[in-house]
Amino acid sequence: MIPFLDLRLAYLELRSEIDAAVARVLDSGWYVLGPEVEAFETEWAAFCGAQHAVGVANGLDALILALRALDIGPEDEVIVPSNTYIATWLAVSAVSARIVPVEPDPATHNIDPERIARAITPATRAILPVHLYGQPADMDPILALARDRGIFVVEDAAQAHGAAYKGKRIGAHGDLVCWSFYPGKNLGAMGDAGAVTTSRADLAERLQALRNYGSRQKYVNDEKGVNSRLDPIQAAVLRVKLTRLEEWTARRRAIAAIYSAGLKDSGYILPHVPEWADPVWHLYVLRSRDRDGLQQRLSTAGIGTLVHYPIPPHMQTAYADLEIASQSLPLARQLAAEVLSLPMGPHLSPEDARRVVEALQ
Ligand SMILES: *Cc1c(COP(=O)(O)O)cnc(C)c1O
Repeated sequence: MIPFLDLRLAYLELRSEIDAAVARVLDSGWYVLGPEVEAFETEWAAFCGAQHAVGVANGLDALILALRALDIGPEDEVIVPSNTYIATWLAVSAVSARIVPVEPDPATHNIDPERIARAITPATRAILPVHLYGQPADMDPILALARDRGIFVVEDAAQAHGAAYKGKRIGAHGDLVCWSFYPGKNLGAMGDAGAVTTSRADLAERLQALRNYGSRQKYVNDEKGVNSRLDPIQAAVLRVKLTRLEEWTARRRAIAAIYSAGLKDSGYILPHVPEWADPVWHLYVLRSRDRDGLQQRLSTAGIGTLVHYPIPPHMQTAYADLEIASQSLPLARQLAAEVLSLPMGPHLSPEDARRVVEALQ
């Protein structure tokens, strides 16, 4: 059996260090925010090439609080990819702004800057690109469109820890960059965790208040914030795992190289990597017209795969109220019908990756 992902192996590799880090927090007597969270924030900001990181409870909260820090709300429009995990859309809904979905470049599956240009209106307040599957979105044209019009750029980097765009790590291209450390992400905690990175001190300061009841001084509340603080136990785990992120990314890249070389004449549509992109292979996603049949055959061969994602946000019952005809975003719909994610992770062996290639051939 080759599972899609075995998270337990990540723990076992680092067990003594993770156990010691957790024990350190338990022994410290400090269980909310504090030095462990601050240390992780400093280390994560440095890794990302950002001035500031603000730890929050999860990736969805990172997105919601980023939009709140920019005072985006009702009447405002936010441009989002049609092809993304639903969290990107839910964040816009959470601040009662209007979702403006934009179709992807079919080669990269990431939001298409030319289509963004056509979707901008006087009400557009932010563009929210997603670095899907760990492949950076084409940031320069997006930043240029935004800069010319005073529009904010908020990045959903939940799948892109360590990815680089034109040689510069994702983390501070836009105004705010939102991270998830959900266990299955490239940098994953032992539970829920998230962060926002930025090089704007004013926004970092606002986020620190928003995540903590809107408070800057104990029992003094400047605005209606939330409780969405990064847990220090998770911060301690993340600090251990961060020391391995580059090595584990290298292992993902080795697996991706085996897949891409082994499948180049297979007839499947393989991931396209533009020359300016250094992806981190959160997922290795190929396309097949007979996706469901392929998934079934791989399953029979003992190979676990997943579909990211089977139903695009606009076709979810949750968004029935938007009344977007399902046919109106045909690329998102087509990708949802054709994509298949192969086993991927730092603990998948090259031998197993070659077995996956053989099964696909
Ligand atoms: C995982 C993910 C999120 C949400 O992160 P959580 O920590 O699960 O809330 C948001 N956007 C994308 C693209 C994701 O993959």
